[in-house]
Amino acid sequence: MGAGLSVVAQAPSARHIKISVNASDAARKVLHTKLVIPASPGPLTLYYPKWLPADHSPDGPIWNVAGLKFAAHGKPIPWQQDSVDMYAFHLDVPAGSDSVIADFDFLLSEPGPTIDFSATGSARILILMWHEVALYPQGFAANELIYDPILQLPEGWKFSTALAIASRSGDTITFAPVALDLLVDSPVQSGQFMKVIELTPGGKLSHEVDVAADDPALLDIPSELIERYKRLVAEAGALYQSHHYRDYHFLLTLSDHVMKLGQEHHESSDDRVAERTLVDPQRRLLEAGLFPHEFSHSWNGQFRRPAGLATPDFQQPMKGDLLWVYEGLTEYLGTVLAARSGLWTPEEARDHLALTASSLDHRAGRIWRSLQNTARAAQILYFAPSEWSSYRRGTDFYPEAVLVWLEVDVTLRKLTHDRRSMDDFCRSFLGGQDTGPIIHTYTLEDLIASLNAIAPNDWQKFFRERLESTDAHAPMGGIIGSGWRLTYNNQSNPFVDAAQSGLGTGDFTSSLGITVKGDGAIEDAIPGMAAYESGLSPYMRIVGVNGRQFSLDVLARAILESSSNDSPIAILASNTGSLESHELRYHGGFRSPHLERDSESYDYLDEILMPVTGSSAGSR
Ligand SMILES: [Zn+2]
Repeated sequence: MGAGLSVVAQAPSARHIKISVNASDAARKVLHTKLVIPASPGPLTLYYPKWLPADHSPDGPIWNVAGLKFAAHGKPIPWQQDSVDMYAFHLDVPAGSDSVIADFDFLLSEPGPTIDFSATGSARILILMWHEVALYPQGFAANELIYDPILQLPEGWKFSTALAIASRSGDTITFAPVALDLLVDSPVQSGQFMKVIELTPGGKLSHEVDVAADDPALLDIPSELIERYKRLVAEAGALYQSHHYRDYHFLLTLSDHVMKLGQEHHESSDDRVAERTLVDPQRRLLEAGLFPHEFSHSWNGQFRRPAGLATPDFQQPMKGDLLWVYEGLTEYLGTVLAARSGLWTPEEARDHLALTASSLDHRAGRIWRSLQNTARAAQILYFAPSEWSSYRRGTDFYPEAVLVWLEVDVTLRKLTHDRRSMDDFCRSFLGGQDTGPIIHTYTLEDLIASLNAIAPNDWQKFFRERLESTDAHAPMGGIIGSGWRLTYNNQSNPFVDAAQSGLGTGDFTSSLGITVKGDGAIEDAIPGMAAYESGLSPYMRIVGVNGRQFSLDVLARAILESSSNDSPIAILASNTGSLESHELRYHGGFRSPHLERDSESYDYLDEILMPVTGSSAGSR
């Protein structure tokens, strides 16, 4: 089981490091930070955090550190960046000094097409991620170093965080001393416009949604959505029957000017969505799984963490082999909790599952890259573009593990004649006693032992077959075993519709084998399917369809009419400025993924998605 790495300050010899962040210039996209670090005379190496627990990657944004200076006794100290490890700084502490002062600025950025964790602020909002403004001395685990944080906010801004507050004077907040790992795990959400909604009034522990928005008119969450969030807390409580936080904050940011994100922490989640998400039904549908996923991480990923991902500091490399549990099981439980809390109707949950199964069944890269490899290679795949995602494969350990864990759930139910299920596994493996924010590590063997305690089975073989497979098709055992089958028809899938109207991307994966942006740019084309075989590929831009100027609707109509049309679909495309004609030999019509009931077998899926807290699901 692993001894467990505590994130609560314990070491009696802990050294206090003062960190003061002046965020009064946040709207100009610059944060000023000053650290006072105890140090003895002689060589000193200071690190900027590199491997971040919730990123599973060595992506600490050190390129946005500027104005770095060190001093002791009021005199500057020269420094050298390490020639190999860009996250290490070497300096010599002069005789007679007992501390070093480090000063630097952190530069914020604008969200771009790929991941950029520095895009955390707008003119009205700042999400302070402490790893971006921190340094720490070599030779200590992150839970041995105690920080005394002070934060100065822009005038009149409000804030929310899981950190304990020691005192407050105007716009300056002094937080209680906290170990470095818990500090990095506790972002501060702040903004000119914020609102707090308590989800468990009068409860033993507080659970709140803290909303920040660029536009104050968007702070009011619809009351029926708040009811569903309350049910989410109740359903998660029923599933895990424990807590590993002192209280919990959903830090919800509604902004088009920060990077979209869902990031898990022990006692909070950093949930950032487009500004109009809660008032736009299409975007709301697409984001409904965000809170259930991030909240589940407080148990799966934070309290229980694979040993290879629980490193003592932020410099040691992580091993992502068990991300299909850390992220993949969370994605499955997030789907289950989204349905149980009414954030999705059972039909929406099934359509989501159908779309997941269909997209994974159309991954051309299945035959060369296993599910296991997508997890091991996560640290590079997170940063790959969406173009070529079928042939390359991306972070498929999220969606594909949903299919695998559904099959685990169904198998547990069948082996025990429906007396036990994944709910029992969640209680025993992820739940346990109530604790504060601590990490309890595990290995694959621990996980298998826990499954065997519920229902003996050759789980090693079960997982190996699904993780190492290079079969061309996705694992459908969970869907089939739960009494359903994947089918295609001309009734649209609501998630495909929502992606088209909300995000402007047309998904024609199961017909032409193509996804297309609103301007005609091909995002992905799947080898072996009609579009790719006609010569089209990612980065080309469709200009015309059957003699008409391109739009997603024109392309959809051509696909619909293909089943009653002997002629190929004629595409005019721009390839880096050169115009090309392509003929797509496709006559399958519109094919939209759904689940269809197999009336011969028992409906386990309905049972899995059913609320367990007794709250009525009638209105969902
Ligand atoms: Zn996650």
